[in-house]
Amino acid sequence: MKLILLGAPGAGKGTQAERISKKYNIPTISTGEILRTQIKNGTELGAKAKEYMDKGQLVPDNLVIGMVADFLSARGNEGYILDGFPRSIPQAEALDAMGITLDKVLSIEVPDETIVERMSGRRVCSKCGATYHTKYNPPKGDCCDACGSALKIRDDDNEATVRDRLSVYHAQTEPLKSFYEKKGILVSVVGCEKVDDTTALVFEALGEA
Ligand code: AMP
Repeated sequence: MKLILLGAPGAGKGTQAERISKKYNIPTISTGEILRTQIKNGTELGAKAKEYMDKGQLVPDNLVIGMVADFLSARGNEGYILDGFPRSIPQAEALDAMGITLDKVLSIEVPDETIVERMSGRRVCSKCGATYHTKYNPPKGDCCDACGSALKIRDDDNEATVRDRLSVYHAQTEPLKSFYEKKGILVSVVGCEKVDDTTALVFEALGEA
């Protein structure tokens, strides 16, 4: 299965991607994670990307498309979940031009004000990238349940940056919903307060409850 997850920053794409990945045994390709790894490793791409990411803006299409194309060509016909790509119409067109046939595009719908509240509680594992929320999806202790590493707050999760990222989402990423609706592969679910409830809706939308 080749699947795209759409949704505003903080809608729960990363958390749902982890669950879909386990159920269908396919990897998640998260452009945000790849870019953060590039920053951590001090690469040229990472340095360029950081300028945009810290401001809540999209990294330019040409940088992201080249990076994703390498990952996808390595996967060939094997399935995957794309979390955070495409994020603009030119990126979606680039995906089409790569000759990739998608099974579904799943949009997780959450109101902006809920997102702002959620982001302030988000915690991310500094090593494996697993995501938690202090209220909605707390870790068992102070560290990551999966690998035991320290949890941290992402640099771009402060309220002003979150609001900037939401306006970027509405202006540049949301038009992808009608792009994929026209292709007949868009399915939407409401991102509920409880993560498990959203997961149930996600599996139902993917055709297997
Ligand atoms: P995410 O972890 O998906 O929320 O992404 C964090 C940040 O990485 C975004 O706010 C963008 O600055 C950048 N980013 C991730 N994916 C993309 C993409 N497909 N196109 C442009 N920028 C991206």
